[in-house]
Amino acid sequence: MIRVEHLSKSFGSLEVLRDVSLTVEEGERIVIIGGSGCGKSVFLRSLDLLETPDAGHIFINGDEITAKGANVNRIRQKMGMVYQGFHLFEHMDVLDNLTLAPIRLRGVSRDDAEQKAVELLKMVSLESRKHTMPGVLSGGQKQRIAIARCLAMEPKIMLFDEPTSALDPTMVGEVLATMRMLAKRGMTMLIVTHEMAFAREVGTRILYLDERGIYEQGTPEEIFDHPQRPKTKAFIQKLK
Ligand code: ATP
Ligand code: MG
Repeated sequence: MIRVEHLSKSFGSLEVLRDVSLTVEEGERIVIIGGSGCGKSVFLRSLDLLETPDAGHIFINGDEITAKGANVNRIRQKMGMVYQGFHLFEHMDVLDNLTLAPIRLRGVSRDDAEQKAVELLKMVSLESRKHTMPGVLSGGQKQRIAIARCLAMEPKIMLFDEPTSALDPTMVGEVLATMRMLAKRGMTMLIVTHEMAFAREVGTRILYLDERGIYEQGTPEEIFDHPQRPKTKAFIQKLK
């Protein structure tokens, strides 16, 4: 589903990622953890070329997004990305937020796009909000709309970069519940989060990033209960 080969990325003299390789199979749920500034966001953003790698190759569902002349926009459509901030289109209602990209970018008819949008709004329990403007929604509701908006493009992969970090604690649960449901449906997911209980429950594999790359990886049990390498041990110890 995703293959990263020898990815490197620096900003000037700051080397963030060095020779990182990773293969993600369909249905895997990869949780990325690590200290602030270790490159979690840069890694995630590299996958859809929001960051341009200095070296390396990235394949999404068999297509190389890093290839010269690659149809980057088409390959990007296979991935949905959810951020800490919600980035909803504030000047249009919830329904239009969900239908804009399918209509404009995929040529879906308005009727079909709206039908699909309503299904997705039901899924995130916000059907009654379809004509609401984003500004009046709570943070948790906005994030669920942001997730639904991604799903409207029928992505194969969902990338989440700290999707609950900007939320009041009372709203974290509803967003995690939405992500849990996606996991149950078999969505391939890469998730950067500090919600370790969630990581343990939903993750099929945990990557600990340090020293410019994947310092240690394993099942949740391996990483949280039996980390092998010193920096992983120290990081996990601090969480407890
Ligand atoms: P956090 O947990 O705080 O979100 P992170 O692991 O996501 O941290 P990144 O955002 O990936 O960290 O950043 C990795 C390093 O790259 C940091 O030192 C950051 O300052 C630097 N960096 C990121 N983006 C840029 C940029 N556009 N220009 C210069 N430096 C950058
Ligand atoms: Mg980050």
